[in-house]
Amino acid sequence: MIHKTLSQRTLDESVDRLYDQMRPSVVMTFLAVVLFAFALLRETPLVVGSWTVVMLGHTFLHARSVFGYPKIKHFHAAEFWLSREVAFSLTRAIGWSILVMLYFHPEHTEQFYLLLMFLLAIVSGGLVTYSAVPTLYPSMVVLMLLPISLRLLLTPSTHAYAAIIGVGLLVYAAVLIRYHQEAHGISRKAIELYLQQGILMEEMHRFKEQLQESNEQLKTVNDHLQVALGRSHKLAFNDALTGCYNRRAFLEHLKAHASPYVAAPVCVVMMDLDHFKRINDQQGHLFGDHVLKVLVARIQMQLRPEDILARYGGEEFVCLMPGTTAEQAAIFAETIRKSVASTPIRDEDHIQHITISIGVAKYQPPEDPLEAVNRADQALYRAKRAGRDRVMVT
Ligand code: GH3
Ligand code: MG
Ligand code: MG
Repeated sequence: MIHKTLSQRTLDESVDRLYDQMRPSVVMTFLAVVLFAFALLRETPLVVGSWTVVMLGHTFLHARSVFGYPKIKHFHAAEFWLSREVAFSLTRAIGWSILVMLYFHPEHTEQFYLLLMFLLAIVSGGLVTYSAVPTLYPSMVVLMLLPISLRLLLTPSTHAYAAIIGVGLLVYAAVLIRYHQEAHGISRKAIELYLQQGILMEEMHRFKEQLQESNEQLKTVNDHLQVALGRSHKLAFNDALTGCYNRRAFLEHLKAHASPYVAAPVCVVMMDLDHFKRINDQQGHLFGDHVLKVLVARIQMQLRPEDILARYGGEEFVCLMPGTTAEQAAIFAETIRKSVASTPIRDEDHIQHITISIGVAKYQPPEDPLEAVNRADQALYRAKRAGRDRVMVT
C-alpha cells in the first residue's frame, strides 16, 4: 500500500469537501440564472439571452463535474480536480461580474441594486464553501467586486452615494479576504486533525494486530514450555526404569502427609525383592530389569489412587498409605505379597518365581516421618531374617 504524506492527504480531503459543498451552490446557480433571465430579458433580449445561454451551458458542465466527481475522482489526482473547479468557479464569477457591469448605469436602476445585492450574497456565501482551499475564494471576491467597485468610484454619477458604495464594496472585499484567511487556517487544521486521528486509529489497529500475533506466539511458546516442564518434572520425580515415583518424590509426599498437623493415620510399607542378586546372576541383568518393571506393575494394581509407590533403592520399594491404620496396611501388604508370589514372571527366554519381604510401620506424631521409614525398614529386615516372603509390622 502506498502511504501518502499528510499534506497530500489534506489536499485530497480539501478537494473532497470542496466538491461536496459545491453541490447546492451549483443547483442554486441554475435557479438564479433563470430568475435573472426572466427579469431582464425584456430590456435587452440579445445581450441577456446570450448571457443566459452561456451561463446555463457553463452551469450544466459545472454540475456534471460536481455530481460526477465521487464516481470518477480516482481517475485523476486531487490537483487536477482542484484546477478544474478553480476554472469553473472563476469563469462563473466572471459571468456574474459581466451581468452586473452590463446593468451598471449612472442613474442606477432598481435592477442594478438588486443585482449588486445578489452578487454580495454569492460572494459572502462562498466563504464557507471555499474555506478548505487556499486561493480560490480571494480570486472570486476580486473578480466579482473589484470591477464594479472601480466603476462606481470612477464614473461620474447622478446618484449621490455611488462613490461611497464603491468604497464600501472594496472594504467589504478586503474584510472577506481577511476572514477567508482565518477560515482557511481553521479548516485546514480541522482536516489535519481529522486525518491524524485516522492515521492514529490505523496505527493502533496495526499495533493491536501485532500484539495479538505475538500473544499467539507467546501462547505456543508457553505450551511448549508446559510440555518441557512436564517432562522435566517427570524426570525429576519419577524412576526411569519402572515409571513409579523416585525417592525424592516419596520424601516430598511423606513430608506432606506425615506431619503432626494431619489427623488421619499414615503408614509406610517397605518392600524388597528376595534374592534378587541371585536372579540377576542366573538370568541376566536385562531380565532383572524386566522383573523390576513387572513387580511395580503388580504392586500398583493392588494400590488405591491415594497410595504413593516409589523406588527407594535398587530393588527396594516403599509405599506411603495415607488414611490407613497399621492393621489395614498389613492387610494391603499381605495382598501385595500374595499377588507377587502367586504368578512367576516370564519373558520369551526366562521364567522366574519371585517373592518379596515387607515391613510395615505407622507414623506416630510428633516424630520425624523418617523415623517411620526407619521402623518399616527394621520390620523388613526382620521379615528377611525370619525366612523372607512375609509381612512384619512394627
Ligand atoms: P535379599 O533377599 O537379602 O534382599 O537379597 P538380594 O540379593 O535381593 O539383596 P542384595 O542387596 O544382595 O542384592 C540386590 C541386587 O539388586 C544387587 C543389584 O545388582 C541388584 N540391582 C539393583 N538395582 C538393579 C537394577 O536396576 N536392575 C537390575 N537388574 N538389578 C539391580
Ligand atoms: Mg533384595
Ligand atoms: Mg535390597
